[in-house]
Amino acid sequence: MMYRIKQALQRFMMGRYGTDKLNMWILGGGLVLCLVSIFISNGYVDLALTAGSYGLMIWAIFRTFSRNTYKRYRENRRFLMLLDRIKDREHRYFDCPKCRQPVRVPRGKGKIMITCPKCKEKFQRKT
Ligand SMILES: [Zn+2]
Repeated sequence: MMYRIKQALQRFMMGRYGTDKLNMWILGGGLVLCLVSIFISNGYVDLALTAGSYGLMIWAIFRTFSRNTYKRYRENRRFLMLLDRIKDREHRYFDCPKCRQPVRVPRGKGKIMITCPKCKEKFQRKT
């Protein structure tokens, strides 16, 4: 019996995306919103937080069962890149105004000219 359930579950999950780091963060965010809403006595704020937490959890479930694995994979990669950017305190990241290529420059150098490594476009930014 257990074996058959396991088999059915495996068949169901075939070709589906499963979970990843982005999903963990989405679920975590949903849980935090849910917990915060317990301590909020204002009805509207409580409702908004509860709705937000349900929304996040539904989003995570949707991503887990999604068959569009390539798109989900790209979402996760973009998210991990964003996380790296936030954690990196020594560099600043800019997107090239012409080709959208992300460019990393050292932080705290004042106004500098940046040359895009891809299309050689020059642009000035404060670091
Ligand atoms: Zn460029």
